[in-house]
Amino acid sequence: MKRILARRHGGADEMRLEEAPVPDPGPGQALVRVEAAGVNFIDVYLRTGLYGGTLPVAMGLEGAGVVETVGEGAGLAAGARVAWTGIPGSYATHVLAPADRLVPLPAGIDARSGAAAMLQGMTAHYLVHSTARLAPGDACLVHAAAGGVGLLLCQMARSAGARVIGTVSTAEKAALSRAAGAGDVVLYRDEDFEAAVRRLTEGRGVRVVFDSVGKDTFERSLGCLAPRGLCVLYGASSGPVSPFDPQVLNAKGSVFLTRPSLNHHIATREELMARAGDVLGWIAQGKLKLRIGGEYPLAEAARAHSDLEARRTTGKLLLIP
Ligand code: NDP
Repeated sequence: MKRILARRHGGADEMRLEEAPVPDPGPGQALVRVEAAGVNFIDVYLRTGLYGGTLPVAMGLEGAGVVETVGEGAGLAAGARVAWTGIPGSYATHVLAPADRLVPLPAGIDARSGAAAMLQGMTAHYLVHSTARLAPGDACLVHAAAGGVGLLLCQMARSAGARVIGTVSTAEKAALSRAAGAGDVVLYRDEDFEAAVRRLTEGRGVRVVFDSVGKDTFERSLGCLAPRGLCVLYGASSGPVSPFDPQVLNAKGSVFLTRPSLNHHIATREELMARAGDVLGWIAQGKLKLRIGGEYPLAEAARAHSDLEARRTTGKLLLIP
């Protein structure tokens, strides 16, 4: 089998394609042939070492493919089409997975869509429906609204009845986020988004800000909130946020801050299946649109990371083994 490993933390070039023996599944495990692997911003943090972690890094967490062999008690059959997230080593031709973290793909959803839906789709799902609990009448701000999570967040927030204001860096990205449901879009490299949100909401501010950008946006994100609003800081694409004084939350209007993670929202098999079921079901019904913004051969994982880090991408990036 082939897989992408980073033997040291560092730049995209630390990732190399290596040969390894195909492993045998143990009890409760399945060996899956990967048909498409998802690229996510968290892969960049794991590669650079921002979140610490041990070396070497078996790159990738997400994908879709076909079960080849199973261990005892796996409860799955060879030939099953499955998708997953949270399984290290997914940038590969084969991955060994705990069978209870694999989600069967419904008929009509191909491997590319399955790989594109799992991590970012379930993230948008928990952010909208568990963290923010958006409802009709709410207004929210979505940063990086044409990104992988961003485009799905815009659609789910809109479907929940909320007004969506997006921020993006380019006019092309603005058009994509509008098509995904953002009623207003701010080019945050050209315009101060905090002033724009105040203007667009006639001074009221929004109930929820979804901030995945971090360092460059966080402080002004708090300034976009209505009194008792919620700042959902869920990423750090521009770098981590510096420590700050909680008194700031009072000064901004008794606002709330949370820093959530997908892992805590799909911890049980039941919750994983419920969220994946919603996301895959909406895709199958045409209610949720995936945008695959780029496909790269497995060997070109470094190019995919460079494009993602340089803000050149929209929607989902996939590696095809
Ligand atoms: P994206 O597709 O959103 O890519 C990142 C985007 O962030 C860029 O396209 C860019 O959009 C924007 N951005 C702003 N500043 C920078 C910068 N300095 N460098 C790079 N990008 C920048 O990635 P993902 O959808 O994979 O992930 C989005 C974020 O959400 C990440 O921070 C990720 O870690 C986080 N995340 C968190 C999860 C959680 O549960 N907490 C789960 C999944 C993702 P633009 O050009 O429009 O500014």
